Amino acid sequence: MSLELPPPAEAVAVAVLVHGPVSRSQLAKQLGLSPPTITRLVRPLITAGVLVESDAVRTPGRGRASLPLDVVADAYRFVGVKLTTESIYAVTTDLRARVLDSETIAEPSLDVPDVVAAVVELVTRLQDRSGRPADAIGVTVGGVVDDGETVVDSPFLHWHEVPFRSLLAVKLDSPVFLANDVVGLTMAQQWFGHGREYSDFALLTVGAGVGYGLVINDQLVPTTVSPVSHLPIDPHGPLCPAGHRGCMTAYVTAGAMTAAAALAYREPVTYAQLLQRAEDADPVAVRVVDDAAHALGRAVAAVTALTGVERIILTGEGVRLAELGRRALRAARLEYGGRGEREDPVIRQMDFLEWARGAAVVALRTTFPDPPRICP
Ligand SMILES: [Zn+2]
Repeated sequence: MSLELPPPAEAVAVAVLVHGPVSRSQLAKQLGLSPPTITRLVRPLITAGVLVESDAVRTPGRGRASLPLDVVADAYRFVGVKLTTESIYAVTTDLRARVLDSETIAEPSLDVPDVVAAVVELVTRLQDRSGRPADAIGVTVGGVVDDGETVVDSPFLHWHEVPFRSLLAVKLDSPVFLANDVVGLTMAQQWFGHGREYSDFALLTVGAGVGYGLVINDQLVPTTVSPVSHLPIDPHGPLCPAGHRGCMTAYVTAGAMTAAAALAYREPVTYAQLLQRAEDADPVAVRVVDDAAHALGRAVAAVTALTGVERIILTGEGVRLAELGRRALRAARLEYGGRGEREDPVIRQMDFLEWARGAAVVALRTTFPDPPRICP
């Protein structure tokens, strides 16, 4: 069921979801609306079951109880799926994006029909286990996604112009939404993470690739993957797969770092081994990690210089390099700083399931404030 609401009512519902439980007077203040307007906007949301009056919080000796507004987070289920080259990660969440269940499977192959079949099976299994259909399903991939429909180009899946959303939608009963993986992660941070308290922030991710998300004035700014992932760092640096010398991808991606280290060791090394050796002060690993952290510091400075956004969240499955190379990152960030100290980036540890949670948030944010499929 889709709810037709004026934009201010949607804003009220979202404010309660993100900051609730919250009183009508707090809401009025936060949204710059009068208390009677809030009362008028809240009424249809309560009737539809989107909002509820939570238990009265009685202030002793104050007579009237205030009835804070809240959502019934448990009345909703969302499934999020993130595809990588090796694995498919999936989670079930409630309306506050709390992970209730998860499962990871190996990619059967990267052939589109195989991946479609595997995702459908995985989603069906998660829905069966949760005992009810998902209100919506979100799927994210690394790469360029056009209009929520088509994977235009994914270097990780080697897909070009794949209409992935509709291929899944015909086999699943719940609405399906498709997005870039960093967009999902940024959406999750904005409503349920470190971005919650800020109108402006940027997100940089490191791991298999480099991701960039941007929120200005509470709006998600569409960013494409390539501008930051191939940001020039050093014209004499190593080559990236696109033939650039010394770009971000040539320094900070897992593939670039393990290749640089393997050259020095004269034998292969995994990403996890490399980071562990850096922690153990192995000189090759320390140098590779510091070079990557230096490049990341430059990217942080560039994002701030070009957008004016000072709050930067660093994350991604390779974000440990930002901690191991903290000094190199800081030095690179401040080298051309001009006006001295700036706020340090927030480092948020994460694993691949966090990417799947981001995919669930894509579904959640695209559908909310529709009422839950099963009202409590
Ligand atoms: Zn490049």
